[in-house]
Amino acid sequence: MATPVRLGAPKDSMEARKLLPIGKYTVQCDGFAQKKAKKGDSINYNPKLRVINHPTLAGEKVYTSLNQGAGFILVDFCHMLGHKMEEVGDDIVLPGGFIPNGADPQDVSKMTYQGPLQGAVGEVLVGINQYENKDQNFIKQYFCKIPGCQIKHSAELK
Ligand SMILES: [Zn+2]
Repeated sequence: MATPVRLGAPKDSMEARKLLPIGKYTVQCDGFAQKKAKKGDSINYNPKLRVINHPTLAGEKVYTSLNQGAGFILVDFCHMLGHKMEEVGDDIVLPGGFIPNGADPQDVSKMTYQGPLQGAVGEVLVGINQYENKDQNFIKQYFCKIPGCQIKHSAELK
């Protein structure tokens, strides 16, 4: 008899997602839960954003996948936290870096972010859209915090 394979769901999928009312929120970045996207080779950065400075919703999470393929949103995200991206060859990269896990250095999901985005604070506009007939939050706009920034950031993300 073969050993049974045990299947379930990831622990982080057990957390009930609270629907935030549409509006502008101050958020703090507690790092990233980056993963390879299900399709293709790109990375979803899954930044861990948490509402702060709010009388009733402080501590609530704001979910966004932030896919590598949408570089302009990555710039919006970075500027929201008050940091510029850096050009390295053909790429623009996030400030700081991802430290590989010694036991499994190739696994992107096990890397730990270290850099100035950790703990950085900014403002986002949260919206509500429908996914599989359920209301869910998304980030409609990242407010740029870079003084004198000339980049035209997106104001109507979907
Ligand atoms: Zn900017």
